[in-house]
Amino acid sequence: MAQRRIALFGGSFDPIHLGHTRVARAAAEQIRAERTIFIPAKCSPLKSFWPYARDEDRLNMVTLATADDDSFAVSDCELQRVTPSFTLDTVRLFRREYGEDTAIHWLLGADSTKDLVHWHRIEELLDECNLTTMQRAGHAPPDFNRLESLWGAQRIAKLKRNVVQTPLVDVSSTEVRRRLAAHEDVSGMLHPDVLTYIREHSLYQ
Ligand code: ATP
Repeated sequence: MAQRRIALFGGSFDPIHLGHTRVARAAAEQIRAERTIFIPAKCSPLKSFWPYARDEDRLNMVTLATADDDSFAVSDCELQRVTPSFTLDTVRLFRREYGEDTAIHWLLGADSTKDLVHWHRIEELLDECNLTTMQRAGHAPPDFNRLESLWGAQRIAKLKRNVVQTPLVDVSSTEVRRRLAAHEDVSGMLHPDVLTYIREHSLYQ
């Protein structure tokens, strides 16, 4: 029997945009993940400037943006924790829920790979899930070779195997927020229901 696979996609989603959903869908198809779970990250009490929208609003927008796709799901597990949590904790939570026979892919954009060395207990995370890198417009493909002396050849080979070819969708939450504040057009960047939500709740003004 083929191994079950799920994809976990964490982010600030402030707000969620079409870049997120398009690349996640393409990555999930390549991985053959039966489910892709979007996981909004908790606001850090130490960083009052981030995120711009409240946890509840970010969660609601993620729910709206993913509602059309049956293979998409949303988890508020990180928002429910008292303090901001580590990716490793979240992976272990889903490991307990799905069992040892399910491969867990943690999706991240190529731009995020430059910070991996700072991630909490990164070596355990590399071993316990498949960190799966998606292309990101405006960013070079990841260069994992330079990390081989730190993490060893096997982990680097796994990271390289888990690079997926995703479409380049040149959208970022930063640009969406900038345009909203400047009253510029964002219609091609957001799910229409997310845009309606933003307008109704006067977000990012
Ligand atoms: P910001 O502009 O506020 O930094 P963002 O657009 O990068 O936000 P996040 O919610 O921080 O969005 O991203 C969550 C994850 O999705 C990260 O791993 C990021 O690299 C990835 N990601 C975001 N947008 C894209 C995109 N257009 N293409 C590929 N990956 C993306």
